[in-house]
Amino acid sequence: MDNARDRITQEIVEAEDLKLLAAVDTYGYQCPGCQTQAFPRSYRPENLVRAHFQLRDPHVSGCEVEGEIKVIAQGKRGSVQQELETSPGLSPARLQLIEDRTIVDPALPHTESQTQSVRRSDGATGLVRREGRRAANSIRPICRAFLRFPFDRHLSLAIPGIAPTTYQTAFKKLRSKGLEPCPNARVFYGELAWTPAAESPEHLTISLNAGEWEEKKLTPYQVVVLWSKWSAAARGRLKNELEIARQENIKAKKDKQASRSYLFFVGAQDAKNPAIFHVLDHRLICTAHDELVFPVRS
Ligand SMILES: [Zn+2]
Repeated sequence: MDNARDRITQEIVEAEDLKLLAAVDTYGYQCPGCQTQAFPRSYRPENLVRAHFQLRDPHVSGCEVEGEIKVIAQGKRGSVQQELETSPGLSPARLQLIEDRTIVDPALPHTESQTQSVRRSDGATGLVRREGRRAANSIRPICRAFLRFPFDRHLSLAIPGIAPTTYQTAFKKLRSKGLEPCPNARVFYGELAWTPAAESPEHLTISLNAGEWEEKKLTPYQVVVLWSKWSAAARGRLKNELEIARQENIKAKKDKQASRSYLFFVGAQDAKNPAIFHVLDHRLICTAHDELVFPVRS
């Protein structure tokens, strides 16, 4: 599972975000659907496997999170809108950036900004009642949903600073057909290059396998992450995530799979050099590995 619920705050937590915490309570999480204990795995920044949650005991019968695996598989072949409308975890409706996670006193009432999706459980079964589409605290679950549900990109999506209001229109692919001017804010994405990212104390420079071809040489789009003010944990997490994504990409290509690793980010194109994009916030950049599908409209 990509996410779980914090037992104390009741927030849904992305496994990858555990890498930003100084200490992880391995007993502090549960399945968002049925409250079965969920254990964080590969949550250290240096782990070269994507962070996730694992259950030791089975889900309670009828748990909707257990059913999500089926929905994800179906989502590649056709619309699963109805399931997405009632699932808190699969297809976020908006991005809501909050300040870094702090230890919340369980005795204090939750404020709206802390709580993206408060549990409403049925006391008798322990199953959580169905909720609507939740907000995400980073672009990661949004980008995953973009790849997973190609037939449901008409669903609403609100991202502060980005004018279009659907998955279909809020994302923009950076292609290999020349360097395009991109004056409007979007969630930009492109296939990650095989070249490792280059780091300095001020920047991390990430190359895409997209840009402008001239005489068989690619001038790639590059994403320059200004990370000098980031915590060591946030820097380490991005570096390692990029390395995981790069390895996944090389392996997929060699194994002749259709999936690729994509870099997603919200950032501004450089005023002078259209090959360069600038990213400032660690919540606005991530990778995802999946097959990119564009349904043919009939
Ligand atoms: Zn469950």
